[in-house]
Amino acid sequence: MTTATTTPIRRDVDAALLTASDEAVASVVLDRLQLGTGRTFEVHDPATGRTIATPPDHSVEDALVALGRADAAGRAWAGTTARHRSDVLHRAYGLLIEQQERLAHIITREMGKPLAEARGEVQYAADYVRWYAEEALRPSGNYRENPVGGSTILTTRAPIGTTLLITPWNFPMAMATRKIAPAIAVGCGAVVKPAALTPLTTLAVVEVFVQAGVPEELVQVVTTSKAGPFSAALMADGRVRKVSFTGSTGVGSVLLGQAAEHVIKSSMELGGNAPLLVFDDADLERAVEGAVVAKLRNGGQSCVAANRILVQDGIADAFVEGFVERMRATVLGNGLAEGVALGPVIDDRAVRGFSRLVEDAVDKGAELRTGGAAVGGDGHFFEPTVLDRVPESAEIAVEEIFGPVASIARFGTEAEALERANATPFGLASYVFSQDVDRAFRVADRLDAGMVGINQGIVSNVAAPFGGTKASGLGREGSGEGLEEYQEIRFYNLARG
Ligand code: NAD
Repeated sequence: MTTATTTPIRRDVDAALLTASDEAVASVVLDRLQLGTGRTFEVHDPATGRTIATPPDHSVEDALVALGRADAAGRAWAGTTARHRSDVLHRAYGLLIEQQERLAHIITREMGKPLAEARGEVQYAADYVRWYAEEALRPSGNYRENPVGGSTILTTRAPIGTTLLITPWNFPMAMATRKIAPAIAVGCGAVVKPAALTPLTTLAVVEVFVQAGVPEELVQVVTTSKAGPFSAALMADGRVRKVSFTGSTGVGSVLLGQAAEHVIKSSMELGGNAPLLVFDDADLERAVEGAVVAKLRNGGQSCVAANRILVQDGIADAFVEGFVERMRATVLGNGLAEGVALGPVIDDRAVRGFSRLVEDAVDKGAELRTGGAAVGGDGHFFEPTVLDRVPESAEIAVEEIFGPVASIARFGTEAEALERANATPFGLASYVFSQDVDRAFRVADRLDAGMVGINQGIVSNVAAPFGGTKASGLGREGSGEGLEEYQEIRFYNLARG
């Protein structure tokens, strides 16, 4: 295939920075369970393909030992005061920020994102810890009088019990703290299973929680390359009362099946296919900036990434021109290298997937405006890519891209835009750009999505209930709603004379 540009790539990393990052990775205590079973698996740096760590490959038996520890520690923790749990989480927040540089290096080395973005993830992830330190102090309840008299009904919330927390590789720190912090805040123990591609960040974060005063056994990290047998055994065990999963819809639906069989409360943060709508009356600069952020944040490897950019005919040429210029100017390379804004993607399978999607779209009539190719050499790199006039028959118009490839299509009317935006089984994030307030809210109301960014390309915020509709999942994380996911409702019916 012909490529419209050849993106410059920076692989040279300052020696002192590389040493600092090697030291950060080497400082992670890999075997938190200390069961000494001997098997390991490899973790790679996606920028070089080199192995950077070999954590233990825990078996199902190891995971059951971990579950027993978390369950016992959780029972004691549930009896602590909210003030104590809040103080511990506040201390954890302080320590995470103190260790921001070390944690950012670990994230960049195992996941690939540029160091500046990794620092941003540490702050964002720590913000969840601070938020839940505060929410821990505000347990909500309810009070009702029996309508026919004779009793008063008091509703309270109790910790749900032991939790199973399964996280993806794309935000290895934020996805972990968004689950661990509310579990700790309300008084639950947890078994955490990070993605096999990025287990180091979770190990480092839990170590910090313990330094802050979280009991050693309360949060157990199981590192395993065999996720299927692990979750099946834990869900069937009877001690897990809650599963919280972030990852693909396929795996989420397997876990929901297991949760249904064993009647376990579930939160599922699953795949997305976000439409980003730009109307003729949008502020052009804002729309271009918002689309670049929504597409390229985390290298496009985000569940809320703009997956289908839909632009109204009147503004389309100007928008595409501005957007292509920004994408072309994006510096690709090792996340540790100076000035790099787009790191490697997670693995070679992803690179092959993008090549296939681009080829299919071009074959079906899309215009390749920039990028379009894998970058050779070590590591897993794909050029920032823009496809314009993508037909609805192209696979990229339907699939979750999860990388630095932008798919643009054009529309005529608002009704057409809404119909196309909602023509997906997913309903996670969406974006609207329009300076007409009535239109922005009218469209936002009609989008089938849990989250709508209006005139901006970012939706994530600790105070917001993050989550989706349709195949994008069940439940919410962050905000007050995220705390309730780890609680059980109880009521007391008090006799009154
Ligand atoms: P994935 O579903 O492959 O893996 C997620 C986690 O599940 C990993 O820890 C993995 O080891 C584990 N897993 C895999 N098979 C399992 C099984 N049978 N039983 C139990 N656990 C299993 O997803 P991924 O590739 O790591 O992440 C990308 C996906 O995650 C994308 O679809 C993205 O949209 C989604 N995501 C969603 C959100 C959200 O908040 N909605 C956030 C980030 C990512």
